[in-house]
Amino acid sequence: MHSSTYNADKNTEKTSSVTVIGAGIVGVVTAINLLREGHKVTLIDRAKPGSGCSFGNAGLLARSSFVPLTSPSTLLQAPGWLLRPDGPLSVRWSYLLKIIPWLYNYIKAGFSNELEQRGEAVYQLTGPSVVMFEQLAASVDCSDLVVKTDYLQVYRTRGKLLKAESDMNARRALGFNINTVDADKLRELEPDLSADFKYGHHILGHGYIKDPEALVLAIHQQFCLEGGVYIQQTVTDIVQRVDKCEVVTAEQSISTDKLVIAAGAFSARLIAATNINIPLETERGYHITCLSAEVRLNRPVMEGDNKFLATPMQMGLRFAGTVELAGLDAPLNRRRIKSLQRSASKMMPGLNIDNSSEWLGFRPTLSDSLPVICTAPDNKRIIYAFGHQHLGLTCAPMTAAVVADLVAERQPRIDISRFDVKRLL
Ligand SMILES: Cc1cc2nc3c(=O)[nH]c(=O)nc-3n(C[C@H](O)[C@H](O)[C@H](O)COP(=O)(O)OP(=O)(O)OC[C@H]3O[C@@H](n4cnc5c(N)ncnc54)[C@H](O)[C@@H]3O)c2cc1C
Repeated sequence: MHSSTYNADKNTEKTSSVTVIGAGIVGVVTAINLLREGHKVTLIDRAKPGSGCSFGNAGLLARSSFVPLTSPSTLLQAPGWLLRPDGPLSVRWSYLLKIIPWLYNYIKAGFSNELEQRGEAVYQLTGPSVVMFEQLAASVDCSDLVVKTDYLQVYRTRGKLLKAESDMNARRALGFNINTVDADKLRELEPDLSADFKYGHHILGHGYIKDPEALVLAIHQQFCLEGGVYIQQTVTDIVQRVDKCEVVTAEQSISTDKLVIAAGAFSARLIAATNINIPLETERGYHITCLSAEVRLNRPVMEGDNKFLATPMQMGLRFAGTVELAGLDAPLNRRRIKSLQRSASKMMPGLNIDNSSEWLGFRPTLSDSLPVICTAPDNKRIIYAFGHQHLGLTCAPMTAAVVADLVAERQPRIDISRFDVKRLL
């Protein structure tokens, strides 16, 4: 393959050239925003847009999920989860040694006295999600993919309900309307749910995406129609020059004024090329999507015991969630899929799992469960936008808006001080 240099800013007078690495939900929303602000934008991904973590998530626009997942309550439950074969957390023991420094910081962050402030920071990203997605979807002609909805979090025991109360109270304090419901109300709302579930939280004022992959593809398609350039190549290096950056692939070198790194869980590997080591890990998650489910849900339902979400997607009923700590290179773990199948069947008796798809996705997670959204430590031409862990879909629109501020060197519209990478270095 011959090598060439492609100038991302040729033919432009007024604008700067921006290259975005990563065509997941964060990257595509960022790319279209930048294009609409008048920049000359090149989006680059090694694969088809939306084929990373943004492909198979549970689709929930989790506006009220701002309480950090690493909290004393979740950490204290973790050992019990690890012991249960179908529990929500698993570790590949051969990977444990590698992950110990990250895990240490993760646990430390969970017991810090800054949980409330971290939650407030995250809420700036999650809060406006539904409204921002409605506007964006209308502008890329896929409004049908964004569904305004309530959702349920359901439990088998009263103990589990009570454990979730402090999280729900934090959400109520911000004005979310959340009702505690009994078994009869659960049956009325979701007749096909197992009668084992006797308690629930009915959480109003949310939204979900009926097909997360289709959303990325629709935004990407419109980006190209409006003049954005898409290149499907693997980025192998980033070279920093005085007045430019160069994005290197096996085929070419792309010269660009500004560079946005939105490569999800793979972002740290790219950034390592600039001699900065970011302790980014992955919380691997799984889904099965039952294409002929034979049971139905009217809204997303979070299974509160095993921590996965069942979502009535356009293509079928999707069960997505759980966390596996095993890094980016280990293959899909069939035991996790089997476990998800068992848990889904227990959640919805009569569920037909015969015709179902299976998927592994890599959530990008920093030890304090906050994303990184900032300029690079010593180079304001490079902007980071990754690490949204369980909330990347929800947070994408506001993240992209902030990235547009950083590219234009404007004051960011929200307080991003907690998202600065310097906290991790
Ligand atoms: C099971 C599960 C359920 C989830 N449910 C929800 C939910 O209900 N709501 C929610 O808000 N979030 C949810 N999430 C989280 C959400 O899916 C992620 O946070 C989000 O998709 C991350 O988006 P991203 O654009 O940062 O990364 P990605 O979608 O992973 O995109 C990164 C892209 O970078 C590309 N890339 C990487 N390296 C290179 C390279 N060297 N060169 C070129 N391209 C490269 C990849 O090919 C990829 O396309 C869930 C995640 C999982 C796993």
